Amino acid sequence: MGMNVAQPSGMMALQELMAGNKRYAEGHAQHPDQTRGHRVKVAMDQRPSVVVVGCSDSRVPPSIIFDQGLGVIFEVRTAGHVVDEVAMGSIEYAVAHLGTPLVLVLGHTGCGAVTLALTGQKPTGNLASVAEALMDLADEVQGVTDDPVGAAVEVNVRNVMEHLTLEEPITSDLARKNRVLVAGAVYDMETGRVRILE
Ligand SMILES: [Zn+2]
Repeated sequence: MGMNVAQPSGMMALQELMAGNKRYAEGHAQHPDQTRGHRVKVAMDQRPSVVVVGCSDSRVPPSIIFDQGLGVIFEVRTAGHVVDEVAMGSIEYAVAHLGTPLVLVLGHTGCGAVTLALTGQKPTGNLASVAEALMDLADEVQGVTDDPVGAAVEVNVRNVMEHLTLEEPITSDLARKNRVLVAGAVYDMETGRVRILE
């Protein structure tokens, strides 16, 4: 699944994110747009340039790892970036009502939710819903002996991209009309670098 290069503002937003990630990974983060003045400026309205659909993991906060300030990243985060109806409604709010041109599905190395899914364990409480949503990953990386968690993280990103572009009516329609670019990436927790999935 390639990215749709016909979405110019989505591509521009992605380039901005990657430039910010480079600053962050190399230790030159600028922490833009976090002043009192900027807070007041954006208080009345938001025009985020990207929805990041990412994991709740405390080490993967999108606005920090992409070195962005207030008003840029609309964050939808759940364990293992599982997209349920409420998460989907949040994504739709950004793309359909705020005009956000880019959805970036962001996995990360060493994801605990993905690791849990690969063990096949049935956790107690509502965590079972997370494991259930990710349980197909075990089959999808069966036979992968070299870094099965890494492989499953990538598959999980692609699965959510496919869900958004092929199954969900609102996001798939916007993607087809080139109004929204859906991209996927994996964040490396050790290097701090985000790698776009081709
Ligand atoms: Zn995770």
